[in-house]
Amino acid sequence: MSLLAAGIVAAVGLSGAVALYLMRRQASAVRAHRDRVPEHFVGEVGLDDHRRASDYTLERTRLASFATIFETSVGVLWLLVLLGPLYTLLAAMIPEGLTRSVAVVVCVAGVGHVLGLPFSLYRTFRLEAKFGFNRTTAALFLRDELKGAVLRLGFSVPLLYGLFYLLRTLPEIWWILGLLAVMAFMLVMLIVYPALIAPLFNKFTPMQDAAMTARIEALLRQCGFEAKGLFVMDASKRSTHGNAYFAGLGKAKRIVFFDTLLAKHSPDEILSILAHELGHYKLGHITQRFAETAVFAFVGFLVLHWAFGTSALADAFALPNDPGVVLVIVMIAAGPILHLLSPVTSFLSRRAEFEADAFAKSLLGPDSMIRALTKLSRDNLATLTPDELYVMFYYSHPPVPVRIERLRGSS
Ligand SMILES: [Zn+2]
Repeated sequence: MSLLAAGIVAAVGLSGAVALYLMRRQASAVRAHRDRVPEHFVGEVGLDDHRRASDYTLERTRLASFATIFETSVGVLWLLVLLGPLYTLLAAMIPEGLTRSVAVVVCVAGVGHVLGLPFSLYRTFRLEAKFGFNRTTAALFLRDELKGAVLRLGFSVPLLYGLFYLLRTLPEIWWILGLLAVMAFMLVMLIVYPALIAPLFNKFTPMQDAAMTARIEALLRQCGFEAKGLFVMDASKRSTHGNAYFAGLGKAKRIVFFDTLLAKHSPDEILSILAHELGHYKLGHITQRFAETAVFAFVGFLVLHWAFGTSALADAFALPNDPGVVLVIVMIAAGPILHLLSPVTSFLSRRAEFEADAFAKSLLGPDSMIRALTKLSRDNLATLTPDELYVMFYYSHPPVPVRIERLRGSS
């Protein structure tokens, strides 16, 4: 094995090992505090609920550990064993050209998705069901899978053809055009997703509650926020987890509440959650997130430009130098790098959450937000005692106890 190949395989393995180490830390932190409700939550969260949240977190972490071991092994297997025979098989059926390259990528991604299915089946029908969250039926799961597969193929195949075509015809500047195309695609998706794709999976009905709608609209006016409407999504047909979000761009923005959230929270709490979401818009977090993605995409295309211009990667694994094969190697090798960067991206995300909380507090005071967060973590069985290093790596939202502490503070 060449040095480059050994380096990539070692990085993939190391990244998996780091993930497993962090999950073990998370599990022991949760287990250690299982029998005692944290001081600030005594009275708000009962010991039984606290224990259930611990058990739920432990089981999820255990499943994630198995998934990590499995995915890491599959990644290494592709590189060292499977990619060669797959290419030979495809080469026997498809003449050299764009289609063969696209087929390599689609096959690897497709096989990866199918191999991951047992994990998502177990998560949905065993784990989530055991803790009373799951509402999905086998038929709905299957329908979601089929719709998802059609959408993924429908978007990725033309994109791959386009990229490989550019690479072939304009080898010097293909990556700049590719980058622009991908960024344009993402912008279009921001508009297309809420209007055309999300409705394929859920029903969105305008909010009926007149009193609630009036209060929400008053809050929106107070912030000078324009939106296309308030919608309630039938999230309860899949799961009882509650949430709210904004979607869309410009004046086409819509505010979406999960029916599961509306069912469990008081009007004041819902307003606070909305104010938090408004904070994300007002403070430019959506643009920030987009800029972050643009930086990642830029670096990604730069790497691809190098990778397609040399035969180093294919040679390292003694594989044919086909753009499809090279793209697969880059995608697998990118995993550990992105993993290593997750403390940075998670930090930026958590900082934005703190800012959005502060925004909500400035509008409505801290009390209803604190109640909403306490209820959300209790109902979603989020652990109140995570491991600090695990949080640093993976938590896109600060743990609820930390958020509440900040909200209580004078800042
Ligand atoms: Zn947020």
